[in-house]
Amino acid sequence: MSFHGAPTRLAIVVACKGCQKAVPTGERSIPDNPITVCCPSCGEHRRYRPTEIYEGRISFGLIQSGKR
Ligand SMILES: [Zn+2]
Repeated sequence: MSFHGAPTRLAIVVACKGCQKAVPTGERSIPDNPITVCCPSCGEHRRYRPTEIYEGRISFGLIQSGKR
């Protein structure tokens, strides 16, 4: 198999309740229990239920570069 272009960057994300951006959760799959996510964009720190967690694209600007 061969791929053209960049692969689609999918992650387990939640829709931030503050700014509505797709925030990465750091999970590898949709968890069975609620998780707490802090939005790096607006700082909203909320608990999200599994029904609110989905696989999708991370909003532009929210991909963590690994720089701390
Ligand atoms: Zn936010």
